[in-house]
Amino acid sequence: MTLDEDVGEAKETEHSLAADNAAEIKASCAIVGAGPAGLMLGLMLARGGVDVTVIEKHGDFLRDFRGDTIHPSTLQVMHELGLADELLKLPHTEARKLHAEVGGKNITIADFSWLPTKNRFIAFMPQWDFLDFLAREATRYPNFRLLMRTDVTGLIEENDRIAGLRAMSANGSLTVRTSLIVGADGRNSITRKLAGLEVESFGNPSEVLWMKLSHRADDPEQTMGHAGPRQGFVVIDRGDYWQCGYIVRKGTYEDIKAGGIDAFRAMVAAVSPLPPERLEEIKSFDDVHLLSVRIDRLKTWWRPGLICIGDAAHAMSPIGGVGVNLAIQDAVAAANILTSPLKTGALSDKHLAAVEARRGFPTKATQKLQLMMRSDRRKRDAKDATRSGPPGFVRGIARWPILAHLAGRLIGLGFRPEHVRVRDER
Ligand SMILES: Cc1cc2nc3c(=O)[nH]c(=O)nc-3n(C[C@H](O)[C@H](O)[C@H](O)COP(=O)(O)OP(=O)(O)OC[C@H]3O[C@@H](n4cnc5c(N)ncnc54)[C@H](O)[C@@H]3O)c2cc1C
Repeated sequence: MTLDEDVGEAKETEHSLAADNAAEIKASCAIVGAGPAGLMLGLMLARGGVDVTVIEKHGDFLRDFRGDTIHPSTLQVMHELGLADELLKLPHTEARKLHAEVGGKNITIADFSWLPTKNRFIAFMPQWDFLDFLAREATRYPNFRLLMRTDVTGLIEENDRIAGLRAMSANGSLTVRTSLIVGADGRNSITRKLAGLEVESFGNPSEVLWMKLSHRADDPEQTMGHAGPRQGFVVIDRGDYWQCGYIVRKGTYEDIKAGGIDAFRAMVAAVSPLPPERLEEIKSFDDVHLLSVRIDRLKTWWRPGLICIGDAAHAMSPIGGVGVNLAIQDAVAAANILTSPLKTGALSDKHLAAVEARRGFPTKATQKLQLMMRSDRRKRDAKDATRSGPPGFVRGIARWPILAHLAGRLIGLGFRPEHVRVRDER
């Protein structure tokens, strides 16, 4: 049985379970969204003996060009859960260092090889494989329930407290009554909107155009952040293909499309380290996927009966590819803090505030760093619109290679790495 079939079977069981139970189910905790944050939290709560339901609007985990990076800190968490060896049997590529081209030379901008973790590399793995894996592991616990194809549409409020949610599933409408709802439903979170949580936005100046180009034996070594005239170009080694990201100013994609695919290929060829003929693989704009870069966070992550984590609490810039990592770290911290009170029925606002206090600092510090790097690029652009060259931090690392270790730590582990404190209650 493949992983997909395995998870699919669990899904069907849960759908019929929801149908059998008519329109209402009860759970100690309901998590909205089966992304990295939601599934990791669901797995850890289930492991700790909490009755948990994860609700996902899609029927599978297939998404192209999502966060496909599993950082050393996430691998460490998987080790602490006893799952890393199995996970790393799935197809993946490993990056022990990240590189950039500076003045025609390939330099190391982040080095993970000295980190105090069991695995000292970033594993690149399709996000759906990682999510399938987490879902399959979680469904081993009888107190874990996964409702796929179930779209959360409303919250139930009683006595100034969120007491449940409403959703629409393939079997009709559904109500979930619960002590806690966790919004792990991503950057366009409906949960945070319905709960009226206020979002602080730090702008969205750029967009990334993602595309795939084939990987051939004589291609240059992996290059990350190849900087061109005013625009960055990122290539990530995905084994049989290169995942390429071309960074453009916000709102310019429509103009680029209007210029036609040949002009687009020429723009990309000018900054790409790959041979220009390779761009012929981009047949049309259907082969190009747009990611709007956004940095925001909630002013307060919770209200009585509800908390948001992951992208729902804070959308990150793609700089450093830390979105999945932070989502996982939020989930681990939330599980560490919430498992015991959820099990004993002693959950209070102070526990929700504790999750925010624990994860607020690393979120703010990472976003601050991303904003500083962005303003550095802006200043450079303002000085000379046509100037080619890498951003200041990359030039700094080229001068003082020791900084590549610091960058490796910040990207690989983040500001506050979390560790699994929840015991397996099986
Ligand atoms: C194109 C792209 C490329 C990216 N590249 C990287 C990268 O290289 N590295 C990196 O670390 N990060 C990357 N990111 C960011 C990364 O994917 C996110 O930071 C990460 O997935 C956040 O995890 P999450 O669990 O918080 O939310 P998500 O992964 O967004 O998961 C949210 C889940 O909630 C579900 N959902 C939403 N609404 C509802 C609803 N009403 N009812 C039920 N379910 C719902 C969604 O279907 C989804 O499955 C990228 C993002 C995009 C869009």
